[in-house]
Amino acid sequence: MDLIKPKQTESQIEQVGFHFLSKFVSIDSMSDSLSQQHPSTQQQLYMAQVLVDTYQELGIKADIVHGSVIAKIKGKGKGLSTKPIMLSTHLDTAKGTKPISSLNILKNWDGIKNIPYTHNKQFECNVINFPSLKDFVGQDVIFGNGVHPFGLDDKLGLAESFTLAWLLQQNQDNPQLSYPTIFFLHRPDEEINSQKFVPDIVRYLKNQGVGYGFTIDGMAPFEINPESLNASMLSVGSPKIPIQKQLKGYVLDVEIQGVVCHTFNAHEEKLTPAIIFLCETIRQLRLQDINILELVPCGLKELSYKMKIFFENKSEMSDFIETLKQKVLPYEKYGAALSYQNQSVYQTLTIDKGLNSLIYWLCDLLPKIRLSRDSIGIQGFTNPLRIDTNKLNVNQLLLQVGHFEKRKLVDQIMFLIQETLKYNFSFSYKPLFDNIKSHIQKHSKLLIDIPVQSAISLGFQPKIIPMRYSNGTDVFLEQGLVIGNLGTGYFGAECPKEITSIQMLARHICWLFNICQRLSSEML
Ligand SMILES: [Zn+2]
Repeated sequence: MDLIKPKQTESQIEQVGFHFLSKFVSIDSMSDSLSQQHPSTQQQLYMAQVLVDTYQELGIKADIVHGSVIAKIKGKGKGLSTKPIMLSTHLDTAKGTKPISSLNILKNWDGIKNIPYTHNKQFECNVINFPSLKDFVGQDVIFGNGVHPFGLDDKLGLAESFTLAWLLQQNQDNPQLSYPTIFFLHRPDEEINSQKFVPDIVRYLKNQGVGYGFTIDGMAPFEINPESLNASMLSVGSPKIPIQKQLKGYVLDVEIQGVVCHTFNAHEEKLTPAIIFLCETIRQLRLQDINILELVPCGLKELSYKMKIFFENKSEMSDFIETLKQKVLPYEKYGAALSYQNQSVYQTLTIDKGLNSLIYWLCDLLPKIRLSRDSIGIQGFTNPLRIDTNKLNVNQLLLQVGHFEKRKLVDQIMFLIQETLKYNFSFSYKPLFDNIKSHIQKHSKLLIDIPVQSAISLGFQPKIIPMRYSNGTDVFLEQGLVIGNLGTGYFGAECPKEITSIQMLARHICWLFNICQRLSSEML
């Protein structure tokens, strides 16, 4: 098969890719799970219009259909006689993401020097702490301020899509170039798992003859996913039992910052909600009782806590602080932090016995579960995320449960439910998403082999890895659109340490350019 290379130089592709990425990350398009609107935020409507205008500047017609941007590039050469394809990204970003007016670049990174985030010197982001960063060594790395994520998920996918569209337009005059008709889809509210109007969009695309395609929403460089997680959210409730006590002693004001990252890379990035540090401390000290006066989730993804804890004597409090430090400080370089102050008191305090028993339930549970931090490959996990104390009569603990095998996920949930019954707690669970394996297997030649061959032919290393999360492809697959997922090439998803590189961006664009040509071959 004769596949052509674009006539543009690598540096021209890098420049255009960087231009699109800079433009898209400067616009807020965060979705909001609490909103009843569609799309959930006004900002996404604005973003959709910017995308339509940007296509127009490239000479490509695009429309907004149910909040989604759909643009069409007509096929060429042999590609005209193959089925149209869809390339899809989402246009929203996860909670806590903020736009950034200009991206930082560190040229020719040696991998040893910490990434110099402008507003965060705490992260030690280098190849020793995060071995997968070796993929970016020697490149010009792109990063933000280190305080909040700027949305590489999925704006890197967006930038790659637009640069691909530009590249296809620019190479129209090459008679050798052949690719199928491409529908670019950019949908809202993927991060809040909203499926509103997805069936309508799928129907629209199928009516246009689209039969298959890819989401461009993976993280690792040249990632291709043969399967994804089955996941559910379990919520465990303990009734509030406020008891007033006349107490003399000490109140410790403590803020524990958890390690926040995407479940996808929890093992390498050491995902640790603050509640885990607290429970590990209680377990090590074998505390029989702990008087928590206040517990307020805060920070990115609400995986951190501001707390007030009462201690009757000073040595008990010092032991607690020392043990908590032992737990938190090894995780400082990954983003954890601890701050505290204390005051002596003699007053009437309200202690919620219900909250304390929920915390003790979790302490008992910890040795019986596998956290995603300790889970790799196709292992499952149970992630206690946070306890919400702001509900009227109940304290609610949220646990994210995931497994690649549905039966094992059900076993995990059944086990957790039995554990709640021991304490007479209430529970409910919500299915989040399903493994896409059975769909992908049926079309592996198309969805796995072609991107693998493309990457290898360009000298890149493809990574066939299970998606340790979901990106909403299951919804499309259920509706009969055959789609796989491709990596976009970055690190630190949905957390302030996210990075990519100029070269990685351009390589992924060349990968897509090659895949599109392969998809127009007669073997399909
Ligand atoms: Zn995404």
